[in-house]
Amino acid sequence: MKKLALAPLATLIIILGAFAGCTKTQIKPTPGPQFNPPTGRTRTPEVKMLDVAALDAKVKPCDDFYQYACGGWIENTQMPKDKVRIARSFISLRDRNTEILNDYLENYSKGKLEPASPLAKQLGDFYASCMDEAALEAPSPALLKAELDAVDAVQNSKDLAKLVAQLHMKRIQTFFSPSVEQDAKDAATNIVTLAPGGMGLPEKSYYFDDKNKKPEMRAFYKSHLANSFRLAGFSQPEIETQRDLIYHLEESLAEKSLYAAEMRDPLKIYHPMNLQELQKLSPKFDWATYFSTLGVTATKKMNVSQPEYFKQLSELVSLHALPELKNYVKWQIVRQVSAYLQKSLRDEHFDFYNRKMLGQEEYTPLWQRCTGAVDAAMGDALGEVYAAQTFGADGKDKTSKMIQGIRDAFGTNLPKVSWLDDATRKKAEEKLSTFLPKIGYPEKPEKYVGLQISRDSYYKNIMAGNIHSSKETLADLNKPVDRLKWGMRAHTVNAYYNPSLNEIVFPAGILQSPFFSKNGSTAANFGAIGAVMGHELIHGFDDEGRMFDSTGNLKEWWTPAITKSFETKAACIVDQYSKYTVTADKVALNGKLTLGENIADLGGVKFAYLAYQAAKAKGAGGPSLASVITPGPSFSDDQQFFISYAQVWCSKVRDEEQKRLATVDPHSPGQYRVNGVLVNTPEFAKAFNCQAGDKMAPVDRCSLW
Ligand SMILES: [Zn+2]
Repeated sequence: MKKLALAPLATLIIILGAFAGCTKTQIKPTPGPQFNPPTGRTRTPEVKMLDVAALDAKVKPCDDFYQYACGGWIENTQMPKDKVRIARSFISLRDRNTEILNDYLENYSKGKLEPASPLAKQLGDFYASCMDEAALEAPSPALLKAELDAVDAVQNSKDLAKLVAQLHMKRIQTFFSPSVEQDAKDAATNIVTLAPGGMGLPEKSYYFDDKNKKPEMRAFYKSHLANSFRLAGFSQPEIETQRDLIYHLEESLAEKSLYAAEMRDPLKIYHPMNLQELQKLSPKFDWATYFSTLGVTATKKMNVSQPEYFKQLSELVSLHALPELKNYVKWQIVRQVSAYLQKSLRDEHFDFYNRKMLGQEEYTPLWQRCTGAVDAAMGDALGEVYAAQTFGADGKDKTSKMIQGIRDAFGTNLPKVSWLDDATRKKAEEKLSTFLPKIGYPEKPEKYVGLQISRDSYYKNIMAGNIHSSKETLADLNKPVDRLKWGMRAHTVNAYYNPSLNEIVFPAGILQSPFFSKNGSTAANFGAIGAVMGHELIHGFDDEGRMFDSTGNLKEWWTPAITKSFETKAACIVDQYSKYTVTADKVALNGKLTLGENIADLGGVKFAYLAYQAAKAKGAGGPSLASVITPGPSFSDDQQFFISYAQVWCSKVRDEEQKRLATVDPHSPGQYRVNGVLVNTPEFAKAFNCQAGDKMAPVDRCSLW
């Protein structure tokens, strides 16, 4: 549903973080030559499917399957100082992909413009501007001063609204956050959505909760504010008077925003209104000036996702004197641009947002950060060369068939879902029949026409990229919804379901080992990428996705009685995951926040398994299974399916980051994505001969689809 934000992309429903139907034919870009890694760097090795070395054979599969499947990997893998989260699958593949992209950028930046990309020069210049860290020092104070001078020039509420719009074009969140999205109830139309934004802590609870180190994080945040202002040249008395005022303004905004779990209800965040209605709701902010500065004239209908928040915003604007509001805006600027300025500000930013918030001990290497920065600004240009090098038609054919098999399995199972009535079942079948799968890479990648990049200023490149992206996003307002657009790059190691398009999307980046291998056994492929495909499909029928119909519209198609049955079934899953804890000091998972992902995981494994059984019955066994895992113990086909599934989720997370994730991430940690699902999967218990009452084979199970 959420696509193409002016502010950073919020919520496509991702796997790490669905489908059915015809796949479209895509024209494959011309393959380019392979690069060898630049001297001195070894390429992260390919990750094996079904890796015996990752197992911990001392643990019984029926006691703790995650530990059994991943224990060896956990024991032998150290958390690098520059990382806060590592995973056998996702993070290792991301590292490999970053290396591949970096090979292009290194070469482009040195004037070697092969393999050809029309944007090779811009990509190389952008990268070079980031790699020259010493060159950031001298111009940085003046660049920041220019941003802050623009705030000082504000004289009245009209100026303020204008400035906020200009900052939003630069993707500097201030007071709130705009985006352009499909209208939830009219999926054929793009509209502006206004959401909370301009608060420096990750989520509402950070401002109010008294547990899980959140009070400590608040204190760190206030110090971070003071330190950054000092480095930006503010005087000590100024800092002391401003710090608490700014913090309280953020806190007052946070007070009227929804918690992450509350935002899962699409009806709670859908409040269409026109400009006059918004001005009435939030009278003290000059909305007409704001929109005209953005160049938005079509304001007949927009989604003001959280009206109480915008009421509060208006009250704060009237309560605070203009100089106080301007100081708040200055803080939002300093906070959000520090990472692109001189070392002292960068270090202060890193110290709070990475070291204190996430537990990261060291910066990631500069070449990785710079690759990430270019990717964020011009990722589709990199995706084109990446797809040409890595993704073949044979892989696409096989994965398309797997998706079709999983969709068929869901359809075959629908008549057996006893809590559905016939009318709702029919609607579910309709929805299943309109699922659109996308595989590999966008047919119509973004071309970055008009984006000005130079070798001279990293800061200016970042801002140019942001403004370009905002303009592109706003241009969508006047166009019909474009079904060819993608919400991810070709090289992204992830997948998503977009309920407003009823599409499931699998970039080339995830279609590699250990998720998928052309030479892998059918069991292993279905256990890994098959479960991801099933996961995205089930998002169309989870607590959120079920509220969107076959055309992508937010529309009730469930009878009240059937909704009740769904909620009862779902409550079992909420209770189950709410009992799980993470970190040594036992921070609990939020069963409501993670419900949709847990439903998707549970159904994903079920339908991947059923599709796998159907493929096997047809004789699609793949290469000899015995040859897949050698040396080591031999496993049955079904055992391979479940080991392959579990090994996708082998992961380690620093405690600090784990706490943040427990607050903001709708996905459960790897351990529970494995055990939480498999305790509810009778086929797993059968495959490993678990006895009723074993930890991994409870007598009472949750089930949904
Ligand atoms: Zn998901």
